[in-house]
Amino acid sequence: MKRAAAALVVFASVSCGGQAQVASSAASPDTQPPVPATPTPLSTSSSESPAASPSESPSESSAASSPAPKPEGPPKFAAKVSAVARARLPYSWRSGCPVHYRDLRLITMTYWGFDDKAHTGELVVRRTVTDDVVKVFRKLYDMRYPIKQMRLVDAYKADDFDSIDADNTSAFNCRAATGSSNWSNHAYGEAIDINPRENPYVTAAGSTAHQNAKKFAKRPAKGKGVINSGDRVVKAFASVGWGWGGSWSGTKDYQHFSRNGR
Ligand SMILES: [Zn+2]
Repeated sequence: MKRAAAALVVFASVSCGGQAQVASSAASPDTQPPVPATPTPLSTSSSESPAASPSESPSESSAASSPAPKPEGPPKFAAKVSAVARARLPYSWRSGCPVHYRDLRLITMTYWGFDDKAHTGELVVRRTVTDDVVKVFRKLYDMRYPIKQMRLVDAYKADDFDSIDADNTSAFNCRAATGSSNWSNHAYGEAIDINPRENPYVTAAGSTAHQNAKKFAKRPAKGKGVINSGDRVVKAFASVGWGWGGSWSGTKDYQHFSRNGR
């Protein structure tokens, strides 16, 4: 009987691949029906809100699609990826940068604010990483991880210090790495700094250049927007293979996530 069942499985799996497993496990070894297995149309288990809605009208969610928490719940996460006009990067990009601005993309997307409300922010990253970045920020939004603000660093004339002082979350900036003459991963649009006040750059000696960040220089720390080792934000980035500056030895860059981990 076992052999017969096994033969059945083999035969079934040859005939129709993945679906065969479901069919064969359901068929009892006793019955040997010449009847075709139930031709279930692809009504697989749960319908997990498949298509990311085309962003047009998030308020018009159909009744059946979600649990519908409150009459006026926050909007669903939405992200739009578009080309970046040169005029949007007057300070952060110049000729000679390692990535041309045509290879950068503007992501306009929802984020959860420190005020517990949904906001729309902007982030410029390299064209090749937009899918991963959107995936991560969708997770951050869904987990209600709060972000202070998200503006292009050009709002601060591409001055990294000023952007950090304003607790601004940003990505692309054609600049050298801190304390180095090499390009930063930000110059490639492959690094993102998140809530830089709550997650400062801390030297091996334990100091930060930002007065308003001093109380966040140690880890683990508590507070809105703080990122600690192994927590949900680190995991969200790790899910797309991005590394965290908080795991460096010596210098720690708690705000910094990058594609190559540096
Ligand atoms: Zn950074």
